[in-house]
Amino acid sequence: MFCPKCGSIMMPKKEGSKKILACSCGYKSKDIKQATIREEKLEKPKEIEVIDKSELDTLPVMDADCPECDHKRAHFWLVQTRAADEPETKFLKCQKCGHTWRDYD
Ligand SMILES: [Zn+2]
Ligand SMILES: [Zn+2]
Repeated sequence: MFCPKCGSIMMPKKEGSKKILACSCGYKSKDIKQATIREEKLEKPKEIEVIDKSELDTLPVMDADCPECDHKRAHFWLVQTRAADEPETKFLKCQKCGHTWRDYD
């Protein structure tokens, strides 16, 4: 790669944790690490209470009494907790107030 300032060849250089291209004239490119190495995205395990709005719209609805506002309809979804041989846990989210709770029965 050539320096856009003076036209001479730039040398790869390490600057801290970044990898850049540097020229003898003092010009420095931006971080080239990002362009070459795809940043590994650490996927955080999803919090049970946090459900995407768009995701929520696709959830089925059932009759359930909201402990917060007494609304009778709630979205529900099943979550496999811990071991695979354990029964799935049902979570409910009130259609009206958005309160989320766990169905224990
Ligand atoms: Zn230069
Ligand atoms: Zn409610």
